Amino acid sequence: MATLAHQVQEQRLEGIGVCHGIALGAAFVVDDPGGRVVRARLPEAELDAEVARFQQAVQQAQQQVQQSRERLRSVLGEEHAYILEAHLLMLQDRSFNRQIEQFIRQNHANAEWAVRAVTNHLLAIYAEIADDYLRERGSDIEDVAHRLIRILSGTQSRDLNLLAQDAIVVADDLLPSAAIELDKNRVRGVVTNAGGWASHTSIIARSLGIPAVVGLHDITSRVRTGETIIVDGGSGTVIVHPSPETLLFYSEQRGRELQQVVCDLEERELPAITPDGYEITLRANIELLEEIDALHQYNAAGIGLYRSEFLYSMAVAGLPTEDEQYEVYRVLAETSGDEGVVIRTFDLGGDRLKLEGFKPERNPALGLRATRLMLNLEQVFRTQLRAILRAAAHGKLKIVLPLVSTLDELRAAKSIIAEVERQLRDEGVGHDEDIEIGVMVEVPAAVMLAELMAREADFFSLGTNDLIQFMLAVDRTNENVNDLFAPLHPGVLKAIKLVVEAAHKAQIPLTVCGEMAAHPAHVVVLMGLGVTDLSMRPSAIPLVKRVVRAVDMTAARGIAAHALSLTTPAEVNKYVQSQVARYWSQIFVAPSYSR
Ligand code: PEP
Ligand code: MG
Repeated sequence: MATLAHQVQEQRLEGIGVCHGIALGAAFVVDDPGGRVVRARLPEAELDAEVARFQQAVQQAQQQVQQSRERLRSVLGEEHAYILEAHLLMLQDRSFNRQIEQFIRQNHANAEWAVRAVTNHLLAIYAEIADDYLRERGSDIEDVAHRLIRILSGTQSRDLNLLAQDAIVVADDLLPSAAIELDKNRVRGVVTNAGGWASHTSIIARSLGIPAVVGLHDITSRVRTGETIIVDGGSGTVIVHPSPETLLFYSEQRGRELQQVVCDLEERELPAITPDGYEITLRANIELLEEIDALHQYNAAGIGLYRSEFLYSMAVAGLPTEDEQYEVYRVLAETSGDEGVVIRTFDLGGDRLKLEGFKPERNPALGLRATRLMLNLEQVFRTQLRAILRAAAHGKLKIVLPLVSTLDELRAAKSIIAEVERQLRDEGVGHDEDIEIGVMVEVPAAVMLAELMAREADFFSLGTNDLIQFMLAVDRTNENVNDLFAPLHPGVLKAIKLVVEAAHKAQIPLTVCGEMAAHPAHVVVLMGLGVTDLSMRPSAIPLVKRVVRAVDMTAARGIAAHALSLTTPAEVNKYVQSQVARYWSQIFVAPSYSR
């Protein structure tokens, strides 16, 4: 009995919540698909046969990957099939295969052992890489190794297809090929020992909207298949062996979430107008083409920010070609309606995705990044511009330039755009002759020059994420200084006011597209500072619309004005929260509950 009591003890574990939402269900613990590898020492005479056995396994693995890729392409679309493309390239890589063959011959090793040893060596190299994104790509190597070992040893992994309804997938680190096979209809949640915000599991979970918590260290040893588990992807909490009270609590939470979705849909058609009659435009930020559905689901007024650099992160090798980009931009142009799409030119480099061949920088956030990098790599920039301008013949597209810090950069970029337009005209290629060109205001210097910038830009996109990072000298990704990242810092509010006034004076549109645009209390302050155009992740639109529909513009202006008179972030926070709290019941309690 004592053991039983011990087993059912509730345990709460904290990890990194990478996709919000509550999930309750039975755990499905995915076996380590690599299994244990036995080492054998082979006689010289058997080495040729062993190399041949390895080569056969490579052939078989290639066939498997090709089949899965086709299946995924038809189920999930091209965006996700790219992961398997990387696996295929690795399996076709002569130097990877040769290293394993050499290992077999030099060490008289069995093929399974050689695969394990060579890939462990490669993984150690990847583990040293500072860039989160590239480091995470080590999981592709692990995935390919597991596949080869499984084929060589004739073992099977526990297949995700065997999942029961309502399963919570529990894994060490869901390998990319498994992550993309997640079926939204059967997987309620995902929890893993390893992983971070940029891991494949996280990326896929977010794009499928599956609640997920990663970085739990030892979740696979704390729960067995079939046991009940709760995932709170918002807070990063996972509860194993929940007590009946906890189960009830989270079931109710889950119920509320579902009800909220119903209400959100009911409210889809309502206009975003304050009670005193001011209209606020709500747009969507997107990274993947498949999010276009969400744009329509939440009735967004077009795409306020398309982060085009995601095309690079998803590409198999290097940058996408002009035609590959054109196809994506054309789909965006054709499907986003009259409000159109603001395409941000590649915000690559620095602390973002690095292009191949660039050395690590000592201070990457302040490094060769975004528009600076594009002016440096003019051919890459021109290729992207040609693709955008051609696609703009099919719908309304605008260009926004990230991280502009001087007027020179704006002028240089504009003159390249004008030249690319001229070339397209000379070639007789259909394009937009008069595309609007905006500036991402996200560097303090651009704030100070906002009046001048506004004379030469067609619109402003206010990137509060970077602006806060650079104004406060607080790395937005560093958990040690998380507390100091203060959107309601009086200095930040003054900067926003300056930019809004400059845009008003020059009569150019301004959209706030940083995270502040999705935060209910921050939205009130932004409205009060004169912002009437917000762009956010699509799923945030219903909540922000409720804020708009609950708070008078006059009240918002009063709140912002008083906030500006305060002196510290803590004071502003306390004041704004206390003011906005009056509206909470209206904003958070769905109409159907109060009925
Ligand atoms: C920003 O900086 O606020 C922004 C919208 O862009 P990103 O988060 O991609 O830097
Ligand atoms: Mg930015």
